[in-house]
Amino acid sequence: MSGRPAVFLDRDGTLIEDPGYLSDAGRMRLLPGAADAVARLNRAALPVVVVTNQSGIARGLVTEQQYLATERRLDELLQPHAAHVDAHYFCPHHPDVTGPCDCRKPALLLYNRAADRFGIDPAASWWIGDRLRDVLPAEALGGRGILVLSGAGTEDAASAQARQIQIAPDLPAAVDSVLTRRP
Ligand SMILES: [Mg+2]
Ligand SMILES: [Zn+2]
Repeated sequence: MSGRPAVFLDRDGTLIEDPGYLSDAGRMRLLPGAADAVARLNRAALPVVVVTNQSGIARGLVTEQQYLATERRLDELLQPHAAHVDAHYFCPHHPDVTGPCDCRKPALLLYNRAADRFGIDPAASWWIGDRLRDVLPAEALGGRGILVLSGAGTEDAASAQARQIQIAPDLPAAVDSVLTRRP
């Protein structure tokens, strides 16, 4: 497949603090260094695509309107750092509540949608997140995954290690790795 590389980022526990089912945009807090890390990806002309599982919507804990307000809030928090995400994608489902879907990570639908929209080559791209499911798509699509130890990352570190998936302390360190491994 042709196209350009991109960076697929998990949101909760990777870019922002994860309070669990964030319904109040006013409570959103960026993780340390996260905005500057995104700005560095922006300057490197790598599309930054946020893909997030939001099962709180299926569970009735977060309305879709509230979720969309958190998307806008994230954009606002990034803006003073000259950072932006190129697109937000979310899965509102949970298999126990809404049945199986093709969009909940590690499923590939949202990544494939972003790849089509931005002309991305998944095999040349990066997946960064604090859960194994955030980085498994890299195995499926041929890109590279980096598990970060922020958020819930320590819980999945052993399984990531067993699968030879790279581990970084946090998003800024993961971005260092992305940028140094580019030609
Ligand atoms: Mg997460
Ligand atoms: Zn879904």
